[in-house]
Amino acid sequence: MNITIWNEYRHEQQNEEVRRVYPDGIHGVIKQFLLEDGFESVVTATLDEPEHGLTDEVLNNTDVLIWWGHIAHDEVSDEIVEKVKRRVHDGMGLIALHSAHYSKVFRGLMGTNCGLEWREADDKEILWVVDHTHPITQGIDKKIELDIEEMYGERFNIPEPDELLFISWFTGGEVFRSGCTYKRDKGKIFYFRPGHETFPTYYHKDIRRVICNAVRWAAPVGV
Ligand code: ZN
Repeated sequence: MNITIWNEYRHEQQNEEVRRVYPDGIHGVIKQFLLEDGFESVVTATLDEPEHGLTDEVLNNTDVLIWWGHIAHDEVSDEIVEKVKRRVHDGMGLIALHSAHYSKVFRGLMGTNCGLEWREADDKEILWVVDHTHPITQGIDKKIELDIEEMYGERFNIPEPDELLFISWFTGGEVFRSGCTYKRDKGKIFYFRPGHETFPTYYHKDIRRVICNAVRWAAPVGV
């Protein structure tokens, strides 16, 4: 199975606070824990590379694409966005993390604006598992607790998910559909909320478990 991790990779280069948490980039941390979990073919791609690192060759060889973007969604070329969307329809799995809800790729595949409420403060987040039968929630007990995260709240303007796997609660009382699956033609999509760039969320063992599970689930059948 070939996995490509796409990261905008701007916060880490521009912001000392983010660099302290993710010195090798968010993509670097995700790559490391995927390798530790037994995945063998993991490559990374970033916005400022030619074709954003997503050449035809890379895309055609990718079984599952992980996407993290935030401040530069508009800088992703429409041509590449179309190619990514086509590959998803063709069977490539897509894991959209955190602020990727606003990426052109995710919005395009959803067909809605994917707007939401948000607050950058010091909220605690509890992600409650609402489907214990799903491959993506295996290894997680009742909930995942994150001591500090950015708040995303409803209403999240997405189409009704095929499957809802997690609902988040935040200190402010807000709730959010944090783990949602979709199918688009032959491709499987998982949206997973946590992962604000200033917090060490991608070092949390349960968050890692969910992402590793999601990669296996999203892979095209037979890979
Ligand atoms: Zn954020």
